[in-house]
Amino acid sequence: MSLIEKLKKVYLKCEDALMSNYSCLCCEREVPSDSDYSLCSDCYKKLNKISGRLCTVCGDSLAAESMECMLCNNISYSFASNQSCFYYDETAGTIIKSYKYGGRKYYAEHIAKLMFDNLNCFKGIDLIVYVPISKNKNKLRGFNQSELLAKHLSKLTGIKVIDALSKDEVKFSQAGLSREARLKNLSGTFHIKAENNDKLKGKNILIIDDVFTTGSTLSECAKELKKAKPKKIITATFAKTKLNSLN
Ligand SMILES: [Zn+2]
Ligand SMILES: [Zn+2]
Repeated sequence: MSLIEKLKKVYLKCEDALMSNYSCLCCEREVPSDSDYSLCSDCYKKLNKISGRLCTVCGDSLAAESMECMLCNNISYSFASNQSCFYYDETAGTIIKSYKYGGRKYYAEHIAKLMFDNLNCFKGIDLIVYVPISKNKNKLRGFNQSELLAKHLSKLTGIKVIDALSKDEVKFSQAGLSREARLKNLSGTFHIKAENNDKLKGKNILIIDDVFTTGSTLSECAKELKKAKPKKIITATFAKTKLNSLN
């Protein structure tokens, strides 16, 4: 790690400690320390909750009288179903970007609370697993955003979280790739940690991630976890890309 990278890390740590609980996660205006989720009322209202009749697979809202959306009619995932709280638009996107790339670990507690209050996928779950990031990415970012969300959700739900998967370095960044290209890029990069095989067998597993884009990351994780023969695997994320905005 270069000196500039080290200094950036120290700066982000100080900012993390100073700003926690006093500014809106989205617009950074001051908020009362007891405000829900550390969001100002304007930004909270702007969050676009995924609601109404939902696709039983990916959790997106449905326009037509069907059980599954057009995309899920043609795709099979390795998980049984997904739930996401909000559409990944400007508001949710700003929160996620500040959390992930701004080194703001304290966001995790608030984002996890938003997930806990807006999702109903925790009942009957035996274990929480999170999407891993590669060692290089962890070094660069300083933390795994999905791991922190999973750990806070574990505290809120009382469901145990386990470090079940590892991830190799991917050849290219996933950003901007089509679903097919994402799958190819991710194929074989997730590995189940052998010591967890017995813990996962016959269990109902919930995988946590920050954003559901095409579902390929979560599907690859579920595919790898299936090697341990769990009973069922479902997934949950804070945000989800709107179906019609995918290529
Ligand atoms: Zn705000
Ligand atoms: Zn769907």
